[in-house]
Amino acid sequence: METQLDPMKDDLPLMANTSYMLVKHYVLDLDVDFKSKIIEGSIVLFFETGSQYKKTNSAGEESCQSQFDETSKMRTSEPCYIPIINVSTCSSKTECNDFAVSGKEEEATSDENSSHSNNEQDSGISSSKDCCDIENHGNKDFLLVLDCCDLSVLKVEEVDVAAVSGIEKFTRSAKLTGVSKELENLRNQIVHELLTLPADRWKEQLYYFTHCSQAPGCGELLFSTGTWSLEIRKSGIQTPADFPHAIRIWYKTKPEGRSVTWTTDQSGRPCVYTMGSPINNRALFPCQEPPIALSTWQASVRTAAGFIVLMSGENSAEPVQLQEGVLSWYYYVTMPMPASTFTIAVGCWQEVKQEVKQQSFKQRAAVETNTECSLPSSQTDFRWHEEVCGHVDYPCRFQDPAARLQAVISYRVFAPWCLMESCEEYLLHLIPQCLSAAYTTLGTHPFSRLDVLIVPSNFSSLGMASPHIIFLSQSVLPGGSHLCGTRLCHEIAHAWFGLAIGARDWTEEWISEGFATFLEDIFWARAQQLSHDEIKGQQELKALLRWRRLRDEVQNSEEELQVLRPKKESTGELSESGASIVKYGLKAEKIFMQVHYLKGYFLLRSLARTIGEVSYLASLRKFVIKFHGQLVLSQDFLSMLLEDIPEQKGSGLTVESIFQNWLDTSGIPKPLLEEGETWKECQLVQQVSGEVTKWIQTNRRIRKSGKKKMKQNEVVFLQLLPDQLVLLLECLLEEKTLCPRILQCLERTYQLQEQDAEVRHRWCELVIKHKYEPGYGDIERFLRDNQAMGVYLYGELMVNEDAKQQELARKCFAAAQEHMDASSAKVVAEMLF
Ligand SMILES: [Zn+2]
Repeated sequence: METQLDPMKDDLPLMANTSYMLVKHYVLDLDVDFKSKIIEGSIVLFFETGSQYKKTNSAGEESCQSQFDETSKMRTSEPCYIPIINVSTCSSKTECNDFAVSGKEEEATSDENSSHSNNEQDSGISSSKDCCDIENHGNKDFLLVLDCCDLSVLKVEEVDVAAVSGIEKFTRSAKLTGVSKELENLRNQIVHELLTLPADRWKEQLYYFTHCSQAPGCGELLFSTGTWSLEIRKSGIQTPADFPHAIRIWYKTKPEGRSVTWTTDQSGRPCVYTMGSPINNRALFPCQEPPIALSTWQASVRTAAGFIVLMSGENSAEPVQLQEGVLSWYYYVTMPMPASTFTIAVGCWQEVKQEVKQQSFKQRAAVETNTECSLPSSQTDFRWHEEVCGHVDYPCRFQDPAARLQAVISYRVFAPWCLMESCEEYLLHLIPQCLSAAYTTLGTHPFSRLDVLIVPSNFSSLGMASPHIIFLSQSVLPGGSHLCGTRLCHEIAHAWFGLAIGARDWTEEWISEGFATFLEDIFWARAQQLSHDEIKGQQELKALLRWRRLRDEVQNSEEELQVLRPKKESTGELSESGASIVKYGLKAEKIFMQVHYLKGYFLLRSLARTIGEVSYLASLRKFVIKFHGQLVLSQDFLSMLLEDIPEQKGSGLTVESIFQNWLDTSGIPKPLLEEGETWKECQLVQQVSGEVTKWIQTNRRIRKSGKKKMKQNEVVFLQLLPDQLVLLLECLLEEKTLCPRILQCLERTYQLQEQDAEVRHRWCELVIKHKYEPGYGDIERFLRDNQAMGVYLYGELMVNEDAKQQELARKCFAAAQEHMDASSAKVVAEMLF
């Protein structure tokens, strides 16, 4: 399959040619300037030669795709096993054959070259360049392609790692003859030795990464930038093996770049943060985006005193003063992860600390002891822990006995001044509870520490998980612990599913979102220490709410966006160069869709029901132990699960049937339809139905009796849980008419303004539907404080064609527009004008 790389398309291109060269480590050295809204500095990338050039035997298997990398601008959608032989611009039949031959006869070629490493397939790349290299300056130079957009690249240079003092120890095996070619080999040899140091020498490795990154340059490299890429070559260098393996790029971000957002926090102070854009970090630093480029990183970030720098790093950085008014922050990670997971936030946030209250300490102690005693099936888990990890060598927590016993990892909370109190109210206490619930469910925390940051109000979702840092929207703070706790559980679950275990093909985002949604319920139930029946009730209520959401979304979205595995059999396939696409990765609607969360959740829930929760969770733990530190496809999980539970064979459950029923088709999955709405029978749902009936009857009575007032305590309503309130309001939304009196009473009965944002969102919908003017102030507040959730309400305000409501929408948008997330603002602007 060759990739279509048209930025106008909905698919997100991943252009880096990772099959040729694979980045292993990044060293970032950056200055953050709030006046110019620019981040400027350098990045040093350390590479290994890619798999295409290392493989000595399996080249045939892995390189059956087109031989042309994406720079040749080939367009074809054939699956990989069809060789490209009919493209008129390239007389490639011969080259294909040549390529195949060169792939198989590498030993001979290698002898011929009699050089340093396995660069046998040179002819493959050269011949493809020969015939279809339109833009590559008509030479045979190897072209390193990095993912990059909206960056001003100033200079690219080779780094003279051989100049680092003490580095000689990595050059034992190199034969230095003084020829310049040999010196280049020596440098690559050093990088290779450094990159392959065993995990227990990680400190030494970091030390030398730092020093190598500061080594002088030894020659500028040629480069050109395109819309989506940065292409680098070195004159006369034709193979990845000969290409410099340590390069430094000097660059600047652009204020409008889409990887970070420059804004002000809720206290009005400037800040900048990575907002989880679909283009990930490529407008923050040039990188290899494909998830296969698992790498470590370290970063020094300088900014004005008064700001703090939070980052995906396993150390809690302490700032160092460099000069008057400038502080430097240094972070690193030792676990290789995709560059897309790197996250940074710089602002004037404060750490929220526990007030020294005896009670809170007691609480926390209780949580910790409690969970360590109740760790389930630790015996089985430890048996698995003894197995060798399947990932590349790094200092893994699953191998560390102390880490394996740590129910609650160390954590900090950061927030703008004005939100510190509300963070202290629930969030701070919830973190240890949710962390230990996660631990009792899945075992070892993959990451050693956690920062939680309340991000500015323009953050476009409720939460985002990155290594060592979780962003939470301010929307989760008010209204009790429910929304805050469930969202926290969801993001914590991503430490395992999404981060420690990544999707090999981002198109299969259900793997991380489905799991996090499913596990959020389990963690949250454990965090609340509910009884078995309470858990069952809450989870069924949640299932009903999600079922309603899924039903609506399936009715109102494009069919193609409802498929969880849109690439089907070709999922995870790359072009020969390593380039690929994320299907519909740039489609604007996708940001507002939850179908991947919901269908993924229902699949996992259905499997749990079939298999039984206890053995299901044991399988999840086994999956984590087997696959952490690696990338997976849907079938990796499903095959393991079904193998694990042989008794399921009889039930006809197969990977193929799961693909067919759940992952490869649009609409509501058939098994889910067949299951029916069984959750309607649960007690919590029954209670809501009863209350809905009371409200509808009261409404009728008031309407019949004209203006007669509703008597105090005429009807007694039950107290409801937040999720019950959501369901109640959704049911009432289906009523054609509700009189103002009822709406007023509803608001007072449940003190809706005190409820969480999910509940208030439904209240706002009711207000809009029934043009209940006393509630317009609530809408205004909601749109101001909950920008990510408010987009839908703008649409509702416009659709009634009511002058007052439209005016309200415009007024709210005018107030929020300036700081709103760009893509949300665009969507809203389109609705309004
Ligand atoms: Zn491991």
